[in-house]
Amino acid sequence: MIKTDPTMLVYNATEQPWTDDYGVIVSPHRERAICNLEPRDYKIENAMLICAAPPLLKVAQKLLLWMEECMAACDFNQDDMDLYHELRQTIRTAGGFSSETHWWQGPCICSACSHTWQGVVEIPVEATSPQVPLECSECHQMTGGPA
Ligand SMILES: [Zn+2]
Repeated sequence: MIKTDPTMLVYNATEQPWTDDYGVIVSPHRERAICNLEPRDYKIENAMLICAAPPLLKVAQKLLLWMEECMAACDFNQDDMDLYHELRQTIRTAGGFSSETHWWQGPCICSACSHTWQGVVEIPVEATSPQVPLECSECHQMTGGPA
């Protein structure tokens, strides 16, 4: 079971909204342009995609956490897991993860039903164990933690 600590999901780019001012991508949160598109080969679809990038990253981060909540209850198959890892890698490529993380693996126990399982959790590098409640793989409540 994979569980992401929500505090590891970051947004460090210039705050939205990003708008297209005739090939110059701007934000009210930044004095200078975010980028200048080549005026001789301006393509409005490229400008639209760049301007949509901040909200796309933020919704992708929400979807990642939502997928983790559904993972056990929905009985993910290999295609679902591939999609999850593709989403996760895309968020990382877009700078949506705090860079300093490592994987924690260890025995977990549910305080509600006493079920035990082997957990895998990505945690901040300064942490030595998961900082957030984990979903029990048996009763699916957020009542799991390191054993
Ligand atoms: Zn349980």
